[in-house]
Amino acid sequence: MRVLLVEDDEDLGKGVKTGLTQYGYAVDWLRDGESASQALKMENFDMVVLDLGLPGMDGLKVLQNMRAKGSLVPVLILTAKETIDDRIKGLDAGADDYMSKPFDLDELCARLRALQRRSAERASSAIEYKNITIDPASHVATLDDLPLNLPRREFALLLKLLENQGRALSREQLSQSLYSWDEDVDSNALEVHIHNLRKKFGAALIRTIRGVGYMVEKADKAQETTGE
Ligand code: CA
Repeated sequence: MRVLLVEDDEDLGKGVKTGLTQYGYAVDWLRDGESASQALKMENFDMVVLDLGLPGMDGLKVLQNMRAKGSLVPVLILTAKETIDDRIKGLDAGADDYMSKPFDLDELCARLRALQRRSAERASSAIEYKNITIDPASHVATLDDLPLNLPRREFALLLKLLENQGRALSREQLSQSLYSWDEDVDSNALEVHIHNLRKKFGAALIRTIRGVGYMVEKADKAQETTGE
């Protein structure tokens, strides 16, 4: 899950980036609205955590630009304490949720999971897929009801694929959701994670789509295919 964090306060930004990274998110941190707007044009993010009070272009403008371009990426805005007006403007401009500073990191993570769930149109946090379950809230994945200890990126990759059942995801999309800019990534890192997931969950789980990337079949389609 890749998050764009836009926050000009060094201490707060550092704290949120470190915290979210520990929770398994790939976090890119920008400190002003101009570069955030640019990044949103160029790259795929799963979520945006957006401070409103930014130097230069403010957060509200960043948000308005995104929505004007038709972006549906969930946005959680960070507002300074006691500014109800900011929250209302933010929500009206297309924010999906807000938190007032100071806030609790666990709550921020819970809210991001809720946003992710809503944008994936799921009612509950866990995804069930045949004999697999994966729950981003508890960070537990199971196979035949037995919990598997998946490393952070394998977990994130499996979640991304299962959230997008029936849709082919490009290598670039998948890598972008696993790694932030400042991480050095081996060119075959994604293939290694895919290989490991296939070893754990069976080779048939993840299909290679030549020239595109990878996908997991929709559950009902996959069952039909097995029944044939
Ligand atoms: Ca600020």
